[in-house]
Amino acid sequence: MKFSEIEYKRPDMNALRDKFNQLIEIFDSANSFEVQDEIMKEINNLRLEYQTYSTIAGIKYSIDTSNKEYEDEQNFYDSVGPDYEGLITKYYQSIIKSKFRKELEEKWGKQLFDVAAVTIKTFSPEIIEDLKIENELRTDYTKLLASAKIWYDGEEKNLAGISPYMQSPDREVRRSANDAKWKFFAENAEEFDRLYDELVKVRSRMAKKLGYKNFVQMGYDRMGRTDYNAEMVANFRKNVLEFIVPITVKLKESQQERLGLDDFKYFDQALDYKTGNAKPHGNPEWIVRCAKNMYSELSPETDEFFNYMMENELMDLVNKKGKDTGGYCTFIEKYKSPFIFSNFNGTSGDIEVLTHEAGHAFQAYSSRNFEIPEYFFPTSEACEIHSMSMEFLTWPWMDCFFKDQTEKFKYSHLKGSIIFLPYGVTVDEFQHWVYENPEATPAERKQAWLRIEKKYQPYIDYDGNEFLESGGKWQQQRHIYMSPFYYIDYCLAQICAFQFWKKSLDDRTNALSDYLSLCKAGGSRSFLELVRLAHLISPFEDGCIKSFVGEIEKWLENKNQENLN
Ligand SMILES: [Zn+2]
Repeated sequence: MKFSEIEYKRPDMNALRDKFNQLIEIFDSANSFEVQDEIMKEINNLRLEYQTYSTIAGIKYSIDTSNKEYEDEQNFYDSVGPDYEGLITKYYQSIIKSKFRKELEEKWGKQLFDVAAVTIKTFSPEIIEDLKIENELRTDYTKLLASAKIWYDGEEKNLAGISPYMQSPDREVRRSANDAKWKFFAENAEEFDRLYDELVKVRSRMAKKLGYKNFVQMGYDRMGRTDYNAEMVANFRKNVLEFIVPITVKLKESQQERLGLDDFKYFDQALDYKTGNAKPHGNPEWIVRCAKNMYSELSPETDEFFNYMMENELMDLVNKKGKDTGGYCTFIEKYKSPFIFSNFNGTSGDIEVLTHEAGHAFQAYSSRNFEIPEYFFPTSEACEIHSMSMEFLTWPWMDCFFKDQTEKFKYSHLKGSIIFLPYGVTVDEFQHWVYENPEATPAERKQAWLRIEKKYQPYIDYDGNEFLESGGKWQQQRHIYMSPFYYIDYCLAQICAFQFWKKSLDDRTNALSDYLSLCKAGGSRSFLELVRLAHLISPFEDGCIKSFVGEIEKWLENKNQENLN
């Protein structure tokens, strides 16, 4: 079904609650596995219905945050979402203590019960009001970002609209565009501080009510992490500091040399080549045509998938006024349809976001026939393997988008992926600090950011920009506000994607077959189980980074010596 033809209606929460409770009662008093199994299906059908409407409302709102009707719907889900979560928790409690758990587990797999067990820890009716407050604060943050009106180059721009100027070959343009962007954040600094302060307070309050020491473990549990903990993540960050940071320092030096600069400022970071970064050679419709051809050649599975996305209008790709920032992929459960959202703005980022989100969407499409919603997507760090690896697996087709600038693109892409890691762990370490010190003031948080940033990105020079020098850069990072602790996921997944990069150069057939089996498994297994299934080394294993990083360094070094222009 085409996206525009999908009917939307606001769910009747009273009817949903009554029906749900009724089914749970039957489940609890059932005397056979068969009855419980049947009730699970009925409950899942109810969930599909609600989740489908809520997803559609979310998509429409993100496409036009200035539309009053969409905003009302979004507010509706913000306020009923926590009650709905309460119903799911009840269901999870019931399946966990079921008399027929063994049979249910045999049929549906252990992962469902692991997900249920970790989810129920994060909810109690006592925190419903807090969850509503958290949702409102999130929506306020989204609105604030989407409301950015930045006057630049003779017209009003939003945050996605200003970003191409940050990679201008003209240094003065890079400087002034950055000034204009950060001026928006500086002018709203108090509001950004207030929103985050309230988010930290409400999250810490919920954690206390649920019996956690602080929000850290609650954050991990909300992310559904069942096979690693904060200590393992801290060790992972240590490995990044030891093995990746020195490489990024060298990469910065060669970038400065390539650009012929005497000094290297924060606004120089986004430019890799004096003549400009690689850019896609056509408009969005042309990009989609190239992508269609690419996916038809990549594999029969990706061919079917991409045609499905196009025929059913499941992509909204171009930056528009009022559109939410960023990119995402979601899944419209009842119609088994992934949906891709992005903000094309004419930079190479358009191709990266397209292949990235298409990786997520391809996984959702590949595992769409699972009968339980828990298995449509795995946890986020596993999801990001699908997306980040897809970015690399599509390399052989990049010449369609970039023509004579393909090698420049590949260099910037691989380099950017390495440079990303220290930033990613900065965001992660910052959040650990924030939730371990919930009473800190906004100013103390900014000090902590600066300290951590310096450790992982020693080369940053903010050139007197007051807002950035005061430690405010993280306020543009949506995840920090929207989904706490959702960030190390990108780093863990990047490490897996680098392994796919290496494998695809050594043995493409094998790399593709591992990738396909990973996507088909959907969310039916935990992160580390999926890593094993895809024949990858766990990012937590000491020595994992060493297994591929030399090859990346060598590749970048060789490419740099080609003196691309
Ligand atoms: Zn992603």
